[in-house]
Amino acid sequence: MFLPPPPETVSEWADNNRMLTREESPSAGLWNTSNTPYLRDIMDTFTDKTTQIVTVLKATQLGFTEAAINICGYTIDRSPCRIFYVMPDEDLAKDFSVDRLQKALKNTPAIAKKFESAERSKALVVRYPGGFIRLSGANSPAKLASWPIPRVIMDEVDKFPAWTGKEANPVSLIKERTKNWPWRKILVGSTPTTEWGYVYRSYIESEAHYQFYVPCPECGHYQILKFHSLKFPTVLDDQRLFRETYYECENCHHHIHDREKLPMLRKGKWVSDEKLDYQPKIVGYRLNTLYSPWVSFGEVAKEFLKSKDDPKELMNFVNSWLGEPWKSKTAEVKAKSVLDKRTTIPSGIVPDETLILTAGVDRQQGYFYWVVRAWLPRMSSMKIANGSANTWDDLRVIMDQYWPCEDGKRKMQIVLYAVDSGYKTEDTYDFCQYAYGDIDVAIPVKGASQSLSGYYKRTSLQPNVKDRSWHRSMILYEVDTNKFKDLIFYRMNKELGEDGCWMVDADTDEQYANMITAEQKVRDGDKEVWKLIGKKDNHYLDCEVYAYLAAMVMNVQNLQTKKMEEKSVIKKNTEDEMIPSYFDPEG
Ligand SMILES: [Zn+2]
Repeated sequence: MFLPPPPETVSEWADNNRMLTREESPSAGLWNTSNTPYLRDIMDTFTDKTTQIVTVLKATQLGFTEAAINICGYTIDRSPCRIFYVMPDEDLAKDFSVDRLQKALKNTPAIAKKFESAERSKALVVRYPGGFIRLSGANSPAKLASWPIPRVIMDEVDKFPAWTGKEANPVSLIKERTKNWPWRKILVGSTPTTEWGYVYRSYIESEAHYQFYVPCPECGHYQILKFHSLKFPTVLDDQRLFRETYYECENCHHHIHDREKLPMLRKGKWVSDEKLDYQPKIVGYRLNTLYSPWVSFGEVAKEFLKSKDDPKELMNFVNSWLGEPWKSKTAEVKAKSVLDKRTTIPSGIVPDETLILTAGVDRQQGYFYWVVRAWLPRMSSMKIANGSANTWDDLRVIMDQYWPCEDGKRKMQIVLYAVDSGYKTEDTYDFCQYAYGDIDVAIPVKGASQSLSGYYKRTSLQPNVKDRSWHRSMILYEVDTNKFKDLIFYRMNKELGEDGCWMVDADTDEQYANMITAEQKVRDGDKEVWKLIGKKDNHYLDCEVYAYLAAMVMNVQNLQTKKMEEKSVIKKNTEDEMIPSYFDPEG
């Protein structure tokens, strides 16, 4: 009997042919799939007989782009046809073609002579006998639609332009366009963003969802590596993190260390969440950075500790390191969750640890709402009072008063307050200009009409335009209210007393709580935004946003101890002595 050899898979081809240089990998030389064993099945979906669409929720540092390059190399060498490689935009596609793809192909002797290098200006087409790789940016849906190509790789799809509904969703469009090719192969990969992002939606649409199970070196129990089984000291101390972090077996509680990881990976296997009795055509894979052979358990713990106190950075950790979509815990906030954040300190009393007091003022026709907030070390904060005022004079009395501390000895004053300038704008500007001489104690603020790259933007207001007769220019602070509300609700979700918790005084009532929760986070196209629900008032929520802005302007995140540098930012009025700290000298 003479049997033909079994068909070669992508991983076998890579193990025999793909050469890595030191630029591409710490272990230069011939590619070895057993260094990243989880990539084997993913690459080999391109050489099996059934799989058509593969979606990978990828975390950072797992080697997925190398897997995609291996797929291209195999195609050029063994089954030449056209490949469509789609990146978020054309510039990225050119960079990828010149800096990674073409270099890798050139370094691999089996194919080095089969393709023509293309310089950057022509880098979007890489030709070889029997086909070409056409690279494209996803920002051109028309181009996407017109290519009859059976092999498609879409990388970083969650950075593709947001789908507006006017044109076709680029990922669905390509799937749709290729559906008449029975031998089509589509790879969709990205670090996820939210559950509405392209990659997660594509993953959810899969028939089978694979997770990578690895055996405990002690008891042999197969399990998925999960972040909550990573045990580490909760201080940002590199030495301790690298020495003490371990992974705890969910079965025998054995402490698994970094050196045991690669042997575990080599015995790993992909198992589908579903028990299917057929070979699925559309499959999904997900994997987090705990599996990376290049990232230690201690590094994952360190990244978490660095990110946990800022919602933007935590979202990045969840997306890029855990490979999971970000689920906003803030979507529904109940008035009760505000009242749960009441401390035992009565209204009007400043907690002893307080670094500074700030306030926010929302201006309405005929009255002002205000909130005063105490900022404690490590970004914890507590509202100490809230209320309304009818006139500028009434407001000033409240903003300028001395608030007693818990210890009964000292008193503190508000260091900076932000006043909404949306209603009777020039009137508010004038107040901020004149109320405190040359010193910024009251600053004008308004909500930005579009989302900003940071939390706020400073715009200079000039003294001699319109009817102004000011003696100095001023700064108008435009705030990205969505970002501030995210921050507030993120901090509100922390346990009372935990670092970074957003708290309220013991006398906080339901009227305040109802205003804070008058808005809910809702979906608007591909984004989530805060919207007023029903006809409720949200004045105190605006006040809290402005009080938070004032704290940010004061750089509160860097004020960590009671012994602050001597500053004389506040002066009640010119007759007062210079106040060397934010405490009342008579206290
Ligand atoms: Zn075990």
